[in-house]
Formats: sequence, structure tokens, C-alpha cells
Amino acid sequence: MGRGALMCCYRGSIEKPPSSAVEKLRAEMDLDLLRKDEWKEYKYELSALRKLCPPAMPVLVKFSKLPVSHLGQCVRRQTRFVIRLNSQMNAYQAIDVLIHEWAHALAWNYSLDKLSKTVSRELFDEVSHDETWGCAYSRVYRIHTTLVKECWDSFLKERFKEDE
Ligand SMILES: [Zn+2]
Repeated sequence: MGRGALMCCYRGSIEKPPSSAVEKLRAEMDLDLLRKDEWKEYKYELSALRKLCPPAMPVLVKFSKLPVSHLGQCVRRQTRFVIRLNSQMNAYQAIDVLIHEWAHALAWNYSLDKLSKTVSRELFDEVSHDETWGCAYSRVYRIHTTLVKECWDSFLKERFKEDE
């Protein structure tokens, strides 16, 4: 792991790709505009977070081959945060985990650094997901919902343009 404080190790399971029923529904709904490139949405989201929610230090986000139960982690290094996302996730889950980890970078403070070295992993996990982190999460999540709404608005505008 190297130097730095591990702020979070987010555990969970990798989501399966959407079921064929969901795929069929999406096709029927003609969501081409939204599904054209799911990673485009991820990139858009990341650049919005950099602009609207910059943490105290730069954030490097990378996709890594993490154990299958590790969805993501956030590590504080000397001069930056490093967020690792499990490379097996689809774009939608990656956005979800990015929001979770970004909130850690946003909520980071020196007392957390100290605690990460003095208390058990379990206790630290509790403290690093306390209400400070919760507030940061809500701030990041609101940006996310705004982006999703914008995406829908532009989709609907496109979709019903011809009818006007
Ligand atoms: Zn976490």
C-alpha cells in the first residue's frame, strides 16, 4: 500500500451487467442518447466533481485490479488523494463508488489522519463514515442528481423536438 493514510476501503459486490429484461426495456424506451457511451457519463461526472467539489488536495482517480469484494478505496498521500476504483465495475457502479470515495477526500481532516494510526480498523471505519462524511456525501450526491436531471432534460428535449 505504501505511505499514506487509508481513508476507506469500500466493500461490496460487483454488480452484474443489466439483465436482458432491463436491456429490452431500455431499448423500447429509446434511451440511445443515454446509453450511447455510459463511460461518457462517468467522465462528465468526474470533471463536474473536480470543478464543483474540489477537496483540499488534488485527487488522482484510477481503475485498479482490486480484490473482487473491494469496490474502491481512498488514500491520503502527502500531497494528494488517490482514489482507486475496482476495474471490474460497470460505469454506473463506478459513479456510485466514485461519489462515496470523493466524499472521503472532501471530508478529510488532520484528526482522521491521527486516528487512522491509533485506533482499530473497525473503529476507524466507523469514524471515517461519520456525519462529517455524510454531509460531504450529500453535497457530492446533489451534484450527481443535478447532472442526471440535466442529462434527462436534454434527452427529453431531443426526443420531443420533432413534435413541436
Ligand atoms: Zn468509505
